[in-house]
Amino acid sequence: MNKKGMMVILSAPSGCGKDTVFREISKIRDDVCESISATTRQPREGEADGVNYYFITNDKFEEMIEKNEFLEYASYNKCYYGTPAKAAMAMVNSGKICFLIIERKGAQKVMKNCPDAVSIFLMPPDLKTLEKRLKKRNTDSDEQIINRLEIAKDEIKSSSVFDYVVINNELDKAVNEINKILINELKKRNA
Ligand code: 5GP
Repeated sequence: MNKKGMMVILSAPSGCGKDTVFREISKIRDDVCESISATTRQPREGEADGVNYYFITNDKFEEMIEKNEFLEYASYNKCYYGTPAKAAMAMVNSGKICFLIIERKGAQKVMKNCPDAVSIFLMPPDLKTLEKRLKKRNTDSDEQIINRLEIAKDEIKSSSVFDYVVINNELDKAVNEINKILINELKKRNA
């Protein structure tokens, strides 16, 4: 167990493979965990409440905003997404590396409010590859894919605000690069 925990923001355009990258990292490290976000988006096939997300209503989300229960939240593609603060902080305080796998606006809020957090932007090799991945995933309508690609262009433009940019061209390479970042950041914190 690490002496000190750490919060890691992993952000990337939708379809860039951040969940796959996290899954691979959790296979090689037993000190990582993922914050489960709340969202008002509808579950996709195969997604379960409390596993992929907490799927909640708009009213419930807004009640949680009122009660200040989010570390950050943002609206993305006409739905709310947010990180429940209590659970994320508890994971960090227990010495874990807590990954927040979130979009750019929320990521920037965490950078501002939690300056100790490490921020990583996972970059798609190019927009054509991203479009192919989104289509292959087969979970979004054509209109949603167009929206997601528009948001992606914007997100890529502001990637320089992140501490690290990792290109997700080959999965193994991206995973190794992120693992090296974690090792170095933990060394700094526990020095
Ligand atoms: P999706 O609908 O594809 O699951 O997620 C859409 C986007 O919302 C992705 O970029 C995902 O990383 C991001 N997201 C997921 N959870 C959160 C969250 O708690 N906060 C923010 N700001 N973005 C999130």
